[in-house]
Amino acid sequence: MKLSNLQHWLHQIYQTEEDEISCSECLDLVSHYVDLEIAGEAAQEKLPSLKQHLDQCRVCHEEYEVLRDLARLEAEGRAPTLDELRKSL
Ligand SMILES: [Zn+2]
Repeated sequence: MKLSNLQHWLHQIYQTEEDEISCSECLDLVSHYVDLEIAGEAAQEKLPSLKQHLDQCRVCHEEYEVLRDLARLEAEGRAPTLDELRKSL
């Protein structure tokens, strides 16, 4: 790869990273994302950068799954009690 190509490539990477969100931004927004999903809204269209981060970041994705599972249980009117949560941990 020629150096000029490499620089161009790096610049592209840098530009895409500017659109990406950090883990702390993700964790701030993820409960909102779950709310949208539970409400049947197109969460990934409204928060595409969050969805992108979740696809790439295992830590945030696990956080998302926990919140989503809890939100689903809550939506079904059977949110786990603290005791049940402790047992499942
Ligand atoms: Zn993350």
